[in-house]
Amino acid sequence: MTPRTFPSRRAPAYREVPDEKWNDWRWQMSNRLNSAEDFEKVLVLTESERKALNTHDLFRVDITPYYVSLIDPDDPNDPIRRQVLPRAEEIVPFTGMMEDSLAEDRHSPVPGLVHRYPDRVLMLVTTQCASYCRYCTRSRIVGDPSATFSRSEFELQIEYLKRTPQVRDVLLSGGDPLALAPKILEELLARLREIPHIEIVRIGSRIPVFMPQRVTDELCGMLQKYHPLWLNIHVNHPNEITAELAEATDKLTRAGIPLGNQSVLLAGVNDCIHIQRQLVQELVRIRVRPYYLYQCDLVDGAGHFRTPIAKGIEIMEGLRGHTSGFAIPQYIIDAPGGGGKIPVGPNYLMSMSDHKIVLRNYEGYITTYEEPQAYTPHDPKTCRYCQNKRMEPGQTGLTGLLDGEKMVIKPEGFDELHNRGGGAHRLRDNLEKWKPLGIGAGGEET
Ligand SMILES: *Cc1c(COP(=O)(O)O)cnc(C)c1O
Repeated sequence: MTPRTFPSRRAPAYREVPDEKWNDWRWQMSNRLNSAEDFEKVLVLTESERKALNTHDLFRVDITPYYVSLIDPDDPNDPIRRQVLPRAEEIVPFTGMMEDSLAEDRHSPVPGLVHRYPDRVLMLVTTQCASYCRYCTRSRIVGDPSATFSRSEFELQIEYLKRTPQVRDVLLSGGDPLALAPKILEELLARLREIPHIEIVRIGSRIPVFMPQRVTDELCGMLQKYHPLWLNIHVNHPNEITAELAEATDKLTRAGIPLGNQSVLLAGVNDCIHIQRQLVQELVRIRVRPYYLYQCDLVDGAGHFRTPIAKGIEIMEGLRGHTSGFAIPQYIIDAPGGGGKIPVGPNYLMSMSDHKIVLRNYEGYITTYEEPQAYTPHDPKTCRYCQNKRMEPGQTGLTGLLDGEKMVIKPEGFDELHNRGGGAHRLRDNLEKWKPLGIGAGGEET
């Protein structure tokens, strides 16, 4: 039962603000809330929040009036509140915590440019955001007002990109690239477009969620001059999907910008299959395709947001098969220490031998697939694509799990199952084991 239209909210404290101001992103930016005194005007602070807000050296707090209005002021555990209002738990260190958990600084050939994957780079273009997420993976640098866009660093980044032809994809992040002054953002895009080997530019931005007013016709008109341009937004909870966000994503998609969503799995915010299913279904309604669901990084101040990995796998299990395939993100652990993004999820391939594989579906239905007796692969010697290869053999990294073509580890009961011959059958007791909490076969709620 999803609503036909999306809500639009304004906290009572802003009732008198004229619409021209409310709908002006500059007004939203300059009227952000950041002190206990500010917040008391729209909600009742908890002891824990007040303590955190009065702590010296806390990661920067700033929330737009638009975004703070989405909070239910009577709910101390409101999922939007938890994302942006600090709590005392932030001050508590935890085992495994790291300052630069993704080792981004170590993978930076020039300041602000992270080159970890062969064909694409991450470019940190600003430290500023419209509001600050309490679990920010870059809280070590983000928020510092003295360290915003640096022209000399930008020139070094452009120089590096010019002399590095294997980079075909540049991901602009920060901070929030859409928080840059419009002129600087345009100059940045224009300079990147001058480099012939850069095929696509992507922007990672939470501005459409924190301040959809920023997505003006003028901004979209500017962005669409620099196609192919992709944009990933960051929605974590269905309560963030409003009439204003829907209007912003409509404008962006009409400007020809494909939209994706990256969310973070957060304890007490969205660690629930029912919330996640509603989220991804509402995202596709506003033409945003779920891209990644990230496991929370081991970042200072974010310990209380972490969930067990099993929670993420359970959520993925509850999505695949139960809803539209294109509404399903990939669950990713960004490996601590700079290992990069690693997809994890439920296992559907139960076993593999030289002639047969055993699979199970989302309902626990088990089936086998007979491998071909003879396989004539394409000929790399005559293949034009293999001649121009960008990927070296061995760069695919498929080792460890498979030994040659045989699976090293056989699950319990494999031989018995396998020797029963072909066809498919359903194992009722396995169905019990595999179904995620609250979701039965066929997707019905139990
Ligand atoms: C996430 C990330 C990218 C982009 O990864 P995709 O899987 O292509 O979205 C590139 N560089 C760095 C350093 C990243 O962290």
